[in-house]
Amino acid sequence: MAPGCANLGPGLGRPTANHGDDMAKDLRELRDALRQFAADRDWDQYHSPKNLAAALVVEAAELLEHFKWMPDGQSRILGEEKKQVVAHEMADVLLYLVQLSDKLGIDLLASARDKMRVNADKYPVKPARSTSGKYTEL
Ligand SMILES: [Mg+2]
Repeated sequence: MAPGCANLGPGLGRPTANHGDDMAKDLRELRDALRQFAADRDWDQYHSPKNLAAALVVEAAELLEHFKWMPDGQSRILGEEKKQVVAHEMADVLLYLVQLSDKLGIDLLASARDKMRVNADKYPVKPARSTSGKYTEL
């Protein structure tokens, strides 16, 4: 299989038209809502790419905090209350990521698909299967 043509599974290698269109539409709606949210509050002045990247990392840390010292097994079976707060932290990360991509003019879905192709080339199934080693160690 040629590089960049890896079979990544349903919806990843080459998304179906409907799935890709719906997700792109949803992200555009989210981007527009975030633009309006910031404009209504005159917050755009604070939303430099650097500040948005920093805020994203802070939110990622808030997400991680909910798993701090939690046994691995417990992290796989969150209760409903914990799942809700984790979902909100994940949303915070996504919202900053969407804003950052908007500011930098980056198509998030295209970038994600491209990176999955890069990852598939770095981690071919056979040598990467059942190992957590870095691609340089395969
Ligand atoms: Mg948060």
